[in-house]
Amino acid sequence: MKIYTLCILAFAALMSYLFAALPAAPESSEGLPAYKVMVLGFDGLDPEFLETLISQGKLPHFERLLREGAYAPCLTFKPTKSVVIWTSIATGKRMEKHGIVDWMLLTGDRREKVLATGNVRRTEAMWNIASSAGRDVQIVNWWATWPAEPVRGEMVSNHYPKAKGNTLDEVTYPPELVAELEPYSSIEREIVRQQIANAGIPVYAPEVAESTFRPSDNFRREFRASAGHFVEDLLVEWVAHHLLETRGQRDLFGIIFRNADIFSHFLWRFIDRRTAERVFRLLMVDKVPLTPELETTMNQAYARVLESVYVHEDRRLGRLLERAGPETVVIVVSDHGFQFRPYGFYHYGLDAGGGTLAPPGVIFLWGEPIRRGARLRTPTVFDVTPTVLYLLGLPVGEDMDGRVLTEAIVPKVLAERNIAWVATHDTGTRGGEPRPSPIDDDILEELQRLGYVR
Ligand SMILES: [Zn+2]
Repeated sequence: MKIYTLCILAFAALMSYLFAALPAAPESSEGLPAYKVMVLGFDGLDPEFLETLISQGKLPHFERLLREGAYAPCLTFKPTKSVVIWTSIATGKRMEKHGIVDWMLLTGDRREKVLATGNVRRTEAMWNIASSAGRDVQIVNWWATWPAEPVRGEMVSNHYPKAKGNTLDEVTYPPELVAELEPYSSIEREIVRQQIANAGIPVYAPEVAESTFRPSDNFRREFRASAGHFVEDLLVEWVAHHLLETRGQRDLFGIIFRNADIFSHFLWRFIDRRTAERVFRLLMVDKVPLTPELETTMNQAYARVLESVYVHEDRRLGRLLERAGPETVVIVVSDHGFQFRPYGFYHYGLDAGGGTLAPPGVIFLWGEPIRRGARLRTPTVFDVTPTVLYLLGLPVGEDMDGRVLTEAIVPKVLAERNIAWVATHDTGTRGGEPRPSPIDDDILEELQRLGYVR
């Protein structure tokens, strides 16, 4: 045998050994390898506060996504109601199509308003589409996912952290999962207060509340309730890591954290008094119109206050990034940001008409097929699902209102994998009456406190 034949044989043996050692990526409908996707949702994360804090070196994990991935503020729409927008993010569709148009919906006989529940949704969400196509999913705390939907994998509905693991049916899928999560459902209050204090986030005490800029009754209520929300996000994070640990990372992972939104609603009263007094006097007493300069002054002052909250979320992001396998694309998204108005910082109840846009959120993409340092071209909340489907190797619905964010993807991958289309993923079998639950009163009270429901 000639020496070069031996070399070729040895080379072939080595190659087959190397390839056998690689885990096979699941094949897409076109026979091309698909990626896994993690959608990490941070309700109310604002581009201006985030960019300010990144530029100051305060948020190393977001900074990493910015440097190594693709980013832009993410356009959203009015009414900026989280439940409506997150359903658009999960379906790629406007609210007229998906049917979750408000926090409260009328029942069929139009006599009663009930909280919007997931079974009202008329269209398939990304987790339904992925499940039907044989991809497995893990969904935790997504808005309007109670009752938990049968999926290929696990769903922990957004009623789970409120139900604290008891009395409520269909809080997880599969149903027996709730018992497994039981150890996470009791958290000592004192530990939580300690955690909030350690994060440098203000902890409620009457004297702390009264020391702020013009405290109001509503502010006191929101501040007092914030520890409870903080607990819910802790629970959500623990459950997510439990699932990732015990089940491994599924093809599609999706989660929503609410801290950024909850704290941004009321912490602006902690803006340093001199700045706040000066700006409010100009606007309210001297009747000076709100200029971009004044807005910037207030935004920068508020970024300083929100630093502790954003740093906390940055660490949370870092812990999840560690879980993402090499074949994963991470998408970080928020449903809206916040905007300064002469009466505080809001994303909701902004002057009707008046030409103001819904304050944009953010979107990042990060992973092997994503272009480093790319700036996205006016992405919208409708683009998330089409992009997720493309990355999973699944067809995009022609009836979706968004697009695949192709400018985020490296040209080689785009050239190898065309976007596949299907007329619709819907079968016309979804949609129904909103379903009341025993924890509706608690949720309603919370929505009223946040000013979402009157
Ligand atoms: Zn929101």
